[in-house]
Amino acid sequence: MISDYYGKYIKDVLRLRESTVNHYLGAITALNRILRDNQYPIIDLYHVSTKENLKDIEVFLNQSEEYRGLNLRGNNMYSAALHNLMKFASAELFTSSEIFEDLDFPVEVAEQTMTLITKENRRSIIKDQVIHAAHFACECDTAHTSFTSKATLRRYVEGHHLIPLQQQSFFPYSLDVYANVVSLCPNCHRLFHLAIKSEKQYYLDRLFDTRRVRLISSGIDISHKEFLRLTL
Ligand SMILES: [Zn+2]
Ligand SMILES: [Zn+2]
Repeated sequence: MISDYYGKYIKDVLRLRESTVNHYLGAITALNRILRDNQYPIIDLYHVSTKENLKDIEVFLNQSEEYRGLNLRGNNMYSAALHNLMKFASAELFTSSEIFEDLDFPVEVAEQTMTLITKENRRSIIKDQVIHAAHFACECDTAHTSFTSKATLRRYVEGHHLIPLQQQSFFPYSLDVYANVVSLCPNCHRLFHLAIKSEKQYYLDRLFDTRRVRLISSGIDISHKEFLRLTL
């Protein structure tokens, strides 16, 4: 869930002052209350999974008199907090994988794991951020090519959970974390889902080696053998 990452991001990556951090987080709590009071279908901004959802919420909030009044009296603090969350979701500051040095930590398993499983292939903020940090390259081999995406005008790649979310029950911490998401060209992505074992293992071995330490930092401590058992 992005709430865990967002708090850490504004504290440790953006290094905002503690008072600003508290203002931003407090404002999001207040906005969640307005969404709940108005029976908006998404009642928690941190449960939003794409940046498009956040844009829809802003349009909705702007129609609320309570929101407009609150924001006016708060010197635009509420819209600033929402825009900062949107900036995080847009992934624009995820310019290199070094950013994950501050963001790999064990994340509690989200309650709605079931919905995450059914929607595994949809776009998500976490996948978008990983793809940006990987410079839109395939992490199996940066020489792999693809076409230009009309949505991003960059090379088209897809985010993939290295250990599938369906295996969540075997792990005490969330698998929907940066360390477990890789950026792949569409061919490699299909390979992981559809290829025969012998053709998958070469790339699985390589990706496990590059992600092992980060997976451990995220509370996902798994041997190479166990990893292959769950992913081949
Ligand atoms: Zn996948
Ligand atoms: Zn590839």
